[in-house]
Amino acid sequence: MTVNEGWDSFKTNRWINFDTIPSSSSQNRPAPRAPEIEVNRKTPDSPSNRANRPRTLSDRGNEILDNHELVSSLYAWNWSELRENYPEKGIQNPSIYCYAISCVQLLSHVPAIVRILQDHQCQDTACLCCNWKKNFLQSHGHAGTINWFREAFKKDRKFNQGRQEDAHDALLAILGKLDKISVQSNPRLKGRKVADDLFGYSIRNEVQCPGCKNKHVYYEHNTVMTVRMLRKDPSGKSHSIKELMQALFTESKIFGYNCSKCKKKSDAPVKPTLLRAPQILLMHISRFSFDGWGKKISRPVTLNETLDVTSMATAGASTVYKLCGAVIHGGTTLDYGHYWCVARSRKREEQFVTLNDSSVSQHTNPRDALQSYIVLYRRREHLANVGNEKSMI
Ligand SMILES: [Zn+2]
Ligand SMILES: [Zn+2]
Repeated sequence: MTVNEGWDSFKTNRWINFDTIPSSSSQNRPAPRAPEIEVNRKTPDSPSNRANRPRTLSDRGNEILDNHELVSSLYAWNWSELRENYPEKGIQNPSIYCYAISCVQLLSHVPAIVRILQDHQCQDTACLCCNWKKNFLQSHGHAGTINWFREAFKKDRKFNQGRQEDAHDALLAILGKLDKISVQSNPRLKGRKVADDLFGYSIRNEVQCPGCKNKHVYYEHNTVMTVRMLRKDPSGKSHSIKELMQALFTESKIFGYNCSKCKKKSDAPVKPTLLRAPQILLMHISRFSFDGWGKKISRPVTLNETLDVTSMATAGASTVYKLCGAVIHGGTTLDYGHYWCVARSRKREEQFVTLNDSSVSQHTNPRDALQSYIVLYRRREHLANVGNEKSMI
């Protein structure tokens, strides 16, 4: 099979051109970024294409951004790039699978994932991807089934103990499996880490020694961004998801930092910034309280319809996201209660739908958004015909 097989119907040429675009072409070169002090730079062994580029970050930082730019040509980012689009549909819940159903629904509202499922086929009857497609997306009933989820994870005791599990755990497990399956079956994705390509983000942490002022930079990468609940506001005001995210990027201290230059130990300030904004922002709101086992912090979190992360970005790079879905949890602990999903409709992106087990509602309850547990944002430029200020629900 050639990589171009069956792609004629695509409305964009991004996929077709993939093999002809070298990663060093001008299209893929990062835009110049604001000057920044270069810190602890190793002797550069950079390829020649780096030579003419403005020196704005460490070599490691530039590598991270280069890879990120290549990614944008590899996947489908909007619904018009799919072979076919699917109507909204529920999933029958035989017992305790709402934690898995809500995650499958949420991820089924990511064009790149649906496209990967469309392209995938294999011989494994227990395959997560084959069954996801066959028993949910392409099934003809009014609702799909979920038994296949348990089958796909039959070696994982966690999802086979006959009790409700945490949706965040299920999400990570699904992404882990999707990573393995899609790379094995799709030659275009050979050697890639799919979950990282789609959801991966990088944080650049800059530490400054208070004694000799030497700066040290280190990077963190992850796919699902965990944000913590903030202390209760004395005025009773709810926090927004943007405020929770901003808290991740506020300056803090590393206690007992060992400076590699002056060899002294001190409490050094560290400033994190978002170096690589993800293509799709997937956030997990940690609602566990630390003062008791299994306790849930039920305080409401408002979901910004539009989320601009410029203020958190390294060198102020602008990325604007639009809210595209959330897994909601109702109940007092995360192992009990009920999970469901609200999502931007695949066929009518200006509208949100509620997907609660087998039921589909064209209306969403504004209260749902306040109890979100996992939140999904897509880049604004990947959405069609969506206004800026429209409220979510
Ligand atoms: Zn398969
Ligand atoms: Zn020092």
